[in-house]
Amino acid sequence: MVKISGEEKKKYKIQPPPANIIFEYGKDDIAKYMEENGFAVMGKRKRAEEEKVESRWQGELDFYIREKACHKFLRHCYEMALHGKEAMGFLIGDVRQWNGIYSVVHDAVTASLDASPVYVRFSKEAYEEIFDKLDEIDYEYVIVGWYHSHLGYTSFMSSIDIETQRKYFNQPFHAAIVVDPIEKQMKSFRLINNECIEIPYAIFR
Ligand SMILES: [Zn+2]
Repeated sequence: MVKISGEEKKKYKIQPPPANIIFEYGKDDIAKYMEENGFAVMGKRKRAEEEKVESRWQGELDFYIREKACHKFLRHCYEMALHGKEAMGFLIGDVRQWNGIYSVVHDAVTASLDASPVYVRFSKEAYEEIFDKLDEIDYEYVIVGWYHSHLGYTSFMSSIDIETQRKYFNQPFHAAIVVDPIEKQMKSFRLINNECIEIPYAIFR
């Protein structure tokens, strides 16, 4: 995991942001999107065990997710939730430059997880498995962040999540996605000046 920044394989490409946006956070309803695509799980709202840290909102769109990748991690979160477990994985993509820097998620990668309803982390073997999977990717990529799920206690960054972000995903282009398949929420965050800020995202085709 310490290798994350070192895994970057290319410099920022100058390119306009994806045009074919099918979902924009803040304008469209994510609960409806998750229901319509079959990623909502029946369950009860729960009280969070993890401490929620209030995040400020930054409105400028600089985070784009390819629909296929989005469905891949939403399906992972959905399937793990059916077993009462949290999911987690890496977001693979690239960082580009147009009117400022923005990042794009092209794929999601995960591995064997040590998970419970309120806890998730990669097992030791998972790191090797994940880096093997990364080696299989035949295009140049950047790890642009990570995703994980909360089961029925809403999408937010806990103090533990923020610790993970500061430790492993502390580049300005790194994002965190938190999915709650029961509460039908998906939110994204970045560290800006070491503070965890909620940011909008767009899904494109
Ligand atoms: Zn969390």
